[in-house]
Amino acid sequence: MPDPQRICVIGGGAAGISAGSMAKRTNPDATVTVCTEFEDVAYSPCGIPYVLAREIPDFERLFLAGPEQYAEAGIDLRRETVVSEVDAQAQTLVANGETLSWDRLIICTGFNYLLPDLPGADLDGVTFVKNIRRAIELDTTLDGVKRAVVLESTPLGVEMLAALAHRGIETHLVDSGSWLLSQVADPDIAEPVQKSLESLGVTLHFGVEAEAFEGANGALERVTTNHGPIDADLCIVATHKEPETTIARSIGVKVGSTGGIEVNGQMETSLEGVYAAGDAVEVPQGFTGLAVQGLTGSHAMQQGRVAGANAGGGSRTYDPVYVPWGMVGGTVQIGGASFGEHLAESLGIPHIVARANGISRARYYPGVQQVIVKLLAEPGTGKLIGAQMVGGEGVKERADFLAFALKRGATLEDLAFMENVYSPPIGALYEPMSVAAQNGMAQL
Ligand SMILES: Cc1cc2nc3c(=O)[nH]c(=O)nc-3n(C[C@H](O)[C@H](O)[C@H](O)COP(=O)(O)OP(=O)(O)OC[C@H]3O[C@@H](n4cnc5c(N)ncnc54)[C@H](O)[C@@H]3O)c2cc1C
Repeated sequence: MPDPQRICVIGGGAAGISAGSMAKRTNPDATVTVCTEFEDVAYSPCGIPYVLAREIPDFERLFLAGPEQYAEAGIDLRRETVVSEVDAQAQTLVANGETLSWDRLIICTGFNYLLPDLPGADLDGVTFVKNIRRAIELDTTLDGVKRAVVLESTPLGVEMLAALAHRGIETHLVDSGSWLLSQVADPDIAEPVQKSLESLGVTLHFGVEAEAFEGANGALERVTTNHGPIDADLCIVATHKEPETTIARSIGVKVGSTGGIEVNGQMETSLEGVYAAGDAVEVPQGFTGLAVQGLTGSHAMQQGRVAGANAGGGSRTYDPVYVPWGMVGGTVQIGGASFGEHLAESLGIPHIVARANGISRARYYPGVQQVIVKLLAEPGTGKLIGAQMVGGEGVKERADFLAFALKRGATLEDLAFMENVYSPPIGALYEPMSVAAQNGMAQL
């Protein structure tokens, strides 16, 4: 089969931009068109909460490349361009009324925050944090906001709680879960983050359901809950990310059990020649093979690269995921890889828990911080199942390392006898991951 000459990408987020760039790099002769309904591309949405918190001085720094750089790379980038129709048989799509033909299509339509079906959701002040232009508008609005509610402690919700508190706003969390980040973290690991947020003045309401948004003259005045009303002139809806699959479904692309587009290891959908990547898709979790969706921007970017390379005529595979994650909640770092204890129990996965309260630097070095590491392993073999961590520093590096160790089938014994860096300003003699593994070995 000749190399595909016309490649169209729907979506200009992390997945779409990396897919388009990789397709062009793989097949420089191809015409690569990227359509996004947003005004901007190649900015980091991940930095938005930190600009809103005034920890990053301006939004300009979040832009990584301008549209002209894509033009120079030979990519036909179309902003504010909505793809309204796709015809899989004719291999065409309609973008802002214009019909384009494609040999390969890459669907990177991303996610929407689950909008709770509550009265008053259309009031001014009920808002999402996603598109950078809307975030710039929100930044101005925040100057006049006195009280705010964040709906759900997803990772973005936790970042926004700290951001609003930093801005001096009376901030409340309304969360139906029983503890912070309950979808991803264990309660004992989340606890230091909860305390950190409370020390910033945030009020946390757990086990509480929002029932309605109420206001006057079209503007929000309170969020009513099953535990009573909370006065608020702003509500950030930071609910679960749902895959945006309208276009995919319209052409009969198979959607899986999580609501994400099903893809194979080449990021190809159930329709030949149609690829998908990013938050619109679901992929297998490495340990269980179960489908997962709503991962991170770095997953979206890597999936886009694989989809783009394959759509361009190359040959790349995307492996099952072990999902390293990490973030700052208040002043504390939290993260992990694969499962925590709570999720393993919910899924009925037999496990032992290995734990250590370690330190991030030599105990005598200024700035030393506590790092708690919790490992989950198979009872007989000691093979790692998952990990969670919380502490003052070094969580990201440990989460990345442990995801890789999980992928390579490492055991507690491997970690108990691992080599590690010891240098007083950056690492203690006893690496907390290794100490946790040694404690786990004692149980085995
Ligand atoms: C505030 C915020 C903070 C974040 N923080 C982090 C972080 O700290 N770490 C991390 O790893 N990730 C972070 N993310 C990334 C995020 O969680 C996602 O994983 C990532 O944005 C997914 O990229 P995507 O390209 O799949 O989808 P999206 O970013 O949702 O992009 C979807 C694209 O599709 C376009 N589109 C959809 N339908 C159409 C259509 N019909 N026609 C044309 N265009 C269409 C949209 O315009 C958009 O360009 C953050 C995101 C946000 C918003």
